[in-house]
Amino acid sequence: MAGVSWILRNVRLLLAEGEQEGDAWIDKGRWAAIGRVPDRARGLNLEGKGAYLLPGLIDTHVHFREPGLTHKGNFYTESRAALAGGVTTVFDMPNTLPPTTTLARWEAKKQQILGRSWVNFALYFGATLDNAAEIARLDPKQVPGVKVFLASSTGDLLVDSEAVIEHLARVSPVRLVFHSERQAIIEAAAAQWRGKDWEEVPDLHLRRRPPEACIASTRWLLGLATQSAVPFHLLHITTAGEVELLRQRPPNVSAETCPVYLTWSAGDFPHYRNLLKCNPALKSEGDRRALWEGLREGVLEVVGTDHAPHTWAEKHQPYEAAPAGVPAHGYLLPWLWTIGGAWGVGLNFWVEKMVYAPARLWRLQARGPIQEGYWADAVLFNPMGQTQVPPAGSPYHYTRCAWSPLEGRTLAGEVQAVWVNGELSFWRGYFCGSPAGQPVVFA
Ligand SMILES: [Zn+2]
Repeated sequence: MAGVSWILRNVRLLLAEGEQEGDAWIDKGRWAAIGRVPDRARGLNLEGKGAYLLPGLIDTHVHFREPGLTHKGNFYTESRAALAGGVTTVFDMPNTLPPTTTLARWEAKKQQILGRSWVNFALYFGATLDNAAEIARLDPKQVPGVKVFLASSTGDLLVDSEAVIEHLARVSPVRLVFHSERQAIIEAAAAQWRGKDWEEVPDLHLRRRPPEACIASTRWLLGLATQSAVPFHLLHITTAGEVELLRQRPPNVSAETCPVYLTWSAGDFPHYRNLLKCNPALKSEGDRRALWEGLREGVLEVVGTDHAPHTWAEKHQPYEAAPAGVPAHGYLLPWLWTIGGAWGVGLNFWVEKMVYAPARLWRLQARGPIQEGYWADAVLFNPMGQTQVPPAGSPYHYTRCAWSPLEGRTLAGEVQAVWVNGELSFWRGYFCGSPAGQPVVFA
């Protein structure tokens, strides 16, 4: 509802300084008052009845598949799914068709998305073996980072030259974000296990992408970071060995893990097979525990989803042909709230990992915490509600691929409403108005 002001009464406000019961006023897209609303405030009233009002989640790692891979998802469908899970900002990866590896393609992608995204967005740039000159010209106010694939995954953006990466670590004006696995170790594992399928090897994908590939690569990157002034961000950390290495990380390094690695481990492969095939691979239960410890200690600052949709048919090919990646959007906040319950962490934990930490690391301009003057990106969340994840193929899925590894589960908590730039965009399962997402700006 464009241009409407809102007065949200009796909500549990999750603020940077702590939780507080009170009211909040959204006017002209921004927070006009927090805690107590002045008598002169005008707007539609919404009675929160004790539900949480928290800042919208910032997902710094998504694959919305546009351009070129839109049979799997596009910015309209996937941003809608993100919104339904309580996300209000995403940073999209460059491994599309064509990949976002030139300034002209980056600009064209942005133009194509404007007006069609339900959430705010920023677009990563992709490194190749020979585009350092274009990378040096990137605008740090608009580009969140350069994605560097040290090992092959979806798309063809492998940068397996140490000399090229060392050069980027000197010249990039923006953060370098890494897929950290060592290609040589993966190729050796592939040679050993090629031709096998899940029937023969129940944890096949772990064999094909062993933990040593991650650990060797991350050890090398941490060494390089000590000689670089450029900030490094290590995506989807999966191993206890990397968490240990990251305890000694230099100050210009930050790291992420993802809900899929916090929820499942390689022991779940016999049940899910290709549905949980993603890169890096799921590791052991010990690794999964270490990721939770790393998050709690702050060694892993950020949670990103790595939302990477593929169609049901693509995932039901034999192992070798099935693409890697798992859809994570549609149910994110109830998912996090549910798995957090078992580890004794509450909403403020996830708000730190998916709002405050990204806003701080990327220096988002006027976005992040709920505070006066900032853009009103917010979620009304009922912790006593439930969210039912429908079966594969159901029209009630929000993603284009219409399946989720969570299918059939009843998650705790319910996203009741989401505001993006002050616009009510989601209300109890329905999308309202038109897509209100804008490109984000970095300070
Ligand atoms: Zn990814």
